[in-house]
Amino acid sequence: MAGQAETDVVIVGAGPCGLFAVFELGLLDLSCHLIDILDRPGGQCAELYPEKPIFDIPGLPETSAQELIDRLTKQIAPFEPMFHFSEMVTSLDRTGTGFRIATDAGTVIDCKAVVIAAGGGSFQPKRPPIPGVEAYDGKSVFYSVRRMEDFRDHHIVIVGGGDSALDWTLNLQPLARSVTLVHRRPEFRAAPDSVNKMRALEAEGKIRFRQGQVTELKGADGALQSVVVKGPDGDDELACTRMLPFFGLTMKLGPVAEWGIDLHENRILVDTEKFETSEPGIFAIGDINWYPGKLKLILCGFHEAALMSHAAKHIVHPGERVVFQHTSSSTKLHKKLGVA
Ligand SMILES: Cc1cc2nc3c(=O)[nH]c(=O)nc-3n(C[C@H](O)[C@H](O)[C@H](O)COP(=O)(O)OP(=O)(O)OC[C@H]3O[C@@H](n4cnc5c(N)ncnc54)[C@H](O)[C@@H]3O)c2cc1C
Repeated sequence: MAGQAETDVVIVGAGPCGLFAVFELGLLDLSCHLIDILDRPGGQCAELYPEKPIFDIPGLPETSAQELIDRLTKQIAPFEPMFHFSEMVTSLDRTGTGFRIATDAGTVIDCKAVVIAAGGGSFQPKRPPIPGVEAYDGKSVFYSVRRMEDFRDHHIVIVGGGDSALDWTLNLQPLARSVTLVHRRPEFRAAPDSVNKMRALEAEGKIRFRQGQVTELKGADGALQSVVVKGPDGDDELACTRMLPFFGLTMKLGPVAEWGIDLHENRILVDTEKFETSEPGIFAIGDINWYPGKLKLILCGFHEAALMSHAAKHIVHPGERVVFQHTSSSTKLHKKLGVA
């Protein structure tokens, strides 16, 4: 939505870390606008694995990725963040008083501080090098599973040897008509536990594993019927009505790389006190940042959001004393959260 706005902080990216940053900034009375290329909040959680269970969010023994995003969205609602979906931040310029952010949809926002929570950047799945695969994209060939039900009773071929390929082999097996995992080597990069589970299902005859590469797709009008797998023992034609190639994501930093911020191997270098970049007033949290010991975990991004917010407060309201308060006992915070 094109337009002009003013706010304290602009957050680039509405993944889990960008969302939680709204909460931490809100506790300190900082208003936020969030901008995301996707058409809804959630980043990787919503786009790549909404129905998968997550087990390492503190205090939530098990939650689905989408449920986590729904809970975060509810948690930040009292702060009334302004969302700009389906827009890519294309430029970031310094002004006399802060920053001006612009998107490809024509939105322009002036702010005092910027938080880059852009994850892997504008992530794009890598297409497999199979002739004519584009004709099946989004119809029979998918690069993520938004709804498991869409795969029920299908002949599914999953291609790849990493965590996504193994996880979806295990998760889709109970509802598929057939599942075949195709990987060019007998060794996998996935978690050993997933590989063991996959091998056990193979031994029970519940899934098939084929070593090789998919070289040909057969079907018409986007409806896949079979695929040809070229392996060490020759060619094999497999019934296939849904194919899921997991060849990784290209980590395109996109416009972020052109903002003059110091990078470390395609990620944004930050300090671990404030999670500030080499440009004062511009912070980076979540998967996009790098510092010694960094782990790409949601809980790490949450911690980074808390520390970043206190530093951002000093930039937005210089000289103002910040009183540290707990949400459990502060009546001021209860008022902000609408629970007074
Ligand atoms: C299959 C899978 C399973 C996982 N399981 C776990 C798990 O169990 N536990 C765990 O802690 N982590 C897990 N992770 C990792 C976790 O999802 C990431 O650490 C987390 O999503 C990072 O959050 P983020 O907010 O930093 O970035 P992201 O979730 O990547 O969100 C970044 C957002 O920024 C947007 N964006 C990027 N560039 C721009 C731009 N220029 N303009 C506008 N918007 C932009 C993107 O569209 C995206 O929505 C898993 C990841 C995958 C792929």
